[in-house]
Amino acid sequence: MALIVQKYGGTSVANADLIANVANRVIKAWRDGHKMVVVLSAMAGETDRLIGLGKELAEDPDPRELDVLLATGEQVTVSLFSIFLRSQGVPATSLLSHQARIYTDRAYGRARILGIDTARIKEELKKNRVVTVAGFQGVDEVGNITTLGRGGSDTTAVAMAAALKADLCEIYTDVDGVYTADPRICPKARKLEQITYDEMLEMASLGAKVLEIRSVGFARRYEVPLVVRSSFTEAPGTLVTVEDEEMEIVPVSGVALDRNDARVTITRVPDRPGIAVRLFRPVADANIVVDMIIQNTSIDGHTDLTFTVPQGDLKKTMELIRPVAAEVGAQQVVGDKNIAKISIVGVGMKNNAGVAARMFEALSGENINILMISTSEIKISCVIEDKYGELAVRVLHDAFDLGQPPPKKK
Ligand code: ASP
Ligand code: MG
Repeated sequence: MALIVQKYGGTSVANADLIANVANRVIKAWRDGHKMVVVLSAMAGETDRLIGLGKELAEDPDPRELDVLLATGEQVTVSLFSIFLRSQGVPATSLLSHQARIYTDRAYGRARILGIDTARIKEELKKNRVVTVAGFQGVDEVGNITTLGRGGSDTTAVAMAAALKADLCEIYTDVDGVYTADPRICPKARKLEQITYDEMLEMASLGAKVLEIRSVGFARRYEVPLVVRSSFTEAPGTLVTVEDEEMEIVPVSGVALDRNDARVTITRVPDRPGIAVRLFRPVADANIVVDMIIQNTSIDGHTDLTFTVPQGDLKKTMELIRPVAAEVGAQQVVGDKNIAKISIVGVGMKNNAGVAARMFEALSGENINILMISTSEIKISCVIEDKYGELAVRVLHDAFDLGQPPPKKK
């Protein structure tokens, strides 16, 4: 008998039939003797619909009231789910965030979970009831309703699994796991049996949409055994877990393409202490997340500085950088949206030589020019022209033989 937290995403509970379908999965596990906590998203499209309604009444809806509004989406699904379970003779209790005691800070729209008091849930489980918990929402210390940000139900599920020390956290969605590359771009993409937390974090930050990134961070911190799988099939899914030797045999586990960044280049920046902070401080203060930063070795006391920011922040970044660049005597500031970041990710590259060279070779084989390069222990990223992005995914997928399952170590 295990304690299992399952989370169903919006497409898995999009209507009454689908709710009954996934609820039958829960019933089966419960009849097998498992203790079940079920975290639910709102029905697909519902959160967007609610935001739209709010915007009909105010251009910029008040964040506190917007969270009260958005939290209703998950209230609908947890109650419907429990209604169905009870109709099948399965004792079930739905809990909203204040009842499940999911405490957050007061950052409306992007609240962080500070802690979960599991007493009530444990009581329900002791009575052998299935507990359905509203995802995405929390409550601050004085009882205001908060939401965790888009896709936040994943985080609710993982945080819940961590707090309950669950044996397993299963995230049910409409894809059957984590792939070596986006299958829509790369037909040879293969579903991974397992992936490490660190690799998953890199993939999620690069835009792989299967898991919300904060949930992966949570899972890693508390080593929650996490499985991503489809609610529409019986396929086993992908296990996100700690690193083991087997996973280090292959240098690369996946390829990711991120087309959401833009590049800013400042030319002939005087090379003196204090210049970088003057350029980057205003960007940081505007809460703009800078990703890659590259500064060249200076020639005659000047250097070029290039960095990337989310495309949506490019205009603002240029407005902030231009005056400072002029003040410090730099030559010019150029922004470019037509870029893509192509990355290879793998814990195995830590102990495999020549991975970067193989990547560059594969790109050069297609005459793809590399504009920027950055590396971490388990990732190499290249910024290239956007139009080559999808081709680069396929080329790298081939170059590292990702279509083939990794050899098993005996
Ligand atoms: N319903 C929320 C959203 O669409 C949370 C979630 O689905 O995870 O973002
Ligand atoms: Mg979702």
